[in-house]
Amino acid sequence: MNEPRIIVHCDLDAFYAAVETLHHGFDESIPLIIGSDPEGGRGRGIVSTCNYAARKFGIRSAMAISEAWRRCPAAPYGNGIYIKGSRGLYSRASRKVMQILQKPAEYFEQASIDEAYLDVTDFVSGDWDAAVALCRDLQDEIIKQIGLSASFGIAPNRILAKMSSEVNKPKGIFRILPDEVSLFFESRNIREVPGIGKKRATQLTEWGITSVDEMYGYGEIALARITGERFANWIMMVYEGKTSSEISPLRSRKSIGKEHTFDFDKEDHQLVLESLLSLVRRVMKSSREAGVSGRLAEVKIRYTGFETHTHGRSIPVAMDDDEVFTGLAKRLFANNAQQDRKIRLIGFRLGQLDTPKTKQTRLLNLFNEEE
Ligand SMILES: [Mg+2]
Repeated sequence: MNEPRIIVHCDLDAFYAAVETLHHGFDESIPLIIGSDPEGGRGRGIVSTCNYAARKFGIRSAMAISEAWRRCPAAPYGNGIYIKGSRGLYSRASRKVMQILQKPAEYFEQASIDEAYLDVTDFVSGDWDAAVALCRDLQDEIIKQIGLSASFGIAPNRILAKMSSEVNKPKGIFRILPDEVSLFFESRNIREVPGIGKKRATQLTEWGITSVDEMYGYGEIALARITGERFANWIMMVYEGKTSSEISPLRSRKSIGKEHTFDFDKEDHQLVLESLLSLVRRVMKSSREAGVSGRLAEVKIRYTGFETHTHGRSIPVAMDDDEVFTGLAKRLFANNAQQDRKIRLIGFRLGQLDTPKTKQTRLLNLFNEEE
């Protein structure tokens, strides 16, 4: 029998805001909003991201910048700080962090600019206590060398590692041992599972299901009647700790993508975002029709003058859900689109595709879509 792998997920805490705070020497307790020019509340752009202090005002990534201003204006009306953000700073900081994280990993996968998966099984000789100590060392090293705080999750597979890095955020370390998986899920809110969005959660809540163990307790057959067979089967795998622990730096070349070129280069990023989300929905529809799901979301942005950038983020398990990927695309766009630059083309690509084993699943997908 195979020994379980020891998978670490590292996620930097409020990454963009932390980098700016460090660079400008801002006070962490003052709300910091990174995004386009708010123009005294009349700005048409969006929020890229914000720090924990701004989140207390309900400000979120991809929110209209005018809405952020309404909630927390800058001086003299309030104490918010609004800045445009500096791309170069983020990639430099990210590169340095990834260098530190790569060292102990036998397999390493950068999932986004501020997130990575590491398989450290061999480095710690299968010792789960040594894995905790290792994460503490990595955390210290990142603070000492770069000045950024990071959270770590340690678990036998990707999705559990990802969930555990969220548990004690910020500056957290949390471990799930292979025989503690069901304990971890006990009364844990279903929204904490990556891949369960607002809509899915509402649907389950209507049946009185709010925690992961309640969901499992329903049994696969009963759950399938509520959510569809594929989701029910997937949840059983998650609960039983049977989802993938494979960490791979290789990006699958198989992908499905769509792009749109505007008639006129667009200044209004809210409009570009809407167009992106409609592309995401079309891509997801095609993927369901083809009976495949994906683990990688990529947003392509071409600015006036043909300069093109691609920004990606991967999730722990392959999915074909609209809500999951619209959420990812929204954040990728908000975090990466260069404010105040006109956009010529927007695109979305679903990568690292997974094909279900049976044709039956495919028929089921087509069926679900018509509901
Ligand atoms: Mg992060």
